Amino acid sequence: MTQLDLDASNRELASLSARDRIAWGVSRFGQKAVLLSSMQQTSSVLMHLFHAMKLPNEILFVDTGFHFHETLAVRDEFLRRYGLNVVTLYPKNTPERQEQLYGVKLYQFSDGQKQCCDMRKEQPFVEAMKKAGHQLVMNGLRRADGGKRSSIDFLGTDPRFDGYKLNPILDWTDEQLTEYLESNNVFVHPLHAKQYPSIGCACCTTPVEPGEDPRAGRWRHLRTKDDDGPRYCGINFSDGSGI
Ligand code: SF4
Repeated sequence: MTQLDLDASNRELASLSARDRIAWGVSRFGQKAVLLSSMQQTSSVLMHLFHAMKLPNEILFVDTGFHFHETLAVRDEFLRRYGLNVVTLYPKNTPERQEQLYGVKLYQFSDGQKQCCDMRKEQPFVEAMKKAGHQLVMNGLRRADGGKRSSIDFLGTDPRFDGYKLNPILDWTDEQLTEYLESNNVFVHPLHAKQYPSIGCACCTTPVEPGEDPRAGRWRHLRTKDDDGPRYCGINFSDGSGI
């Protein structure tokens, strides 16, 4: 695997634009550099940049089987508009088969949610990375998201596939994000305009009220008070046990 000096790389990446950070990753890893897309607005920015840069690199999307139909429509719209190399990944079991095997809807229970997210999100992603020998995953994490994300770096390691993760828009503010989307007329997940600042599976995502934490709508049914319960699914290494 290409070995990178993390400190030196992060110093270099900090001075680059988002577009140049993507180019930086592709210049080092070629087609072994991919984007992981959730089809939310940060992914729209990165998918549009892939299009603007004419990158044939894979854009991985995990279809959990529980997505809003609008999420699948975003994927289809980007395919139609730009012909991007979107690769849809699927969990081993269908939602129906999973329920048969476990006897319950796992996402309805705290312990089950972890299993469900692991089987339906993290495993398909990690297995695809390993199978293809991919070495770099880019994603749309931003420090402005808060929590653990406020202190992560542009580049880090991801031991799950023995590679690296790169966050090209890590330092973007909400205003920068909106400005890019509007000035480039980028297609955006329609639920963002309906009080869904963060969008996951349909059965685990609700709208948020004004003043609520932007992630308050994620797994709301598993929270007994505002500050407990899951916040992230773990598909991004930085959101789980990693940094
Ligand atoms: S978000 Fe909910 S339905 Fe989707 S994988 Fe996680 S627990 Fe399962």
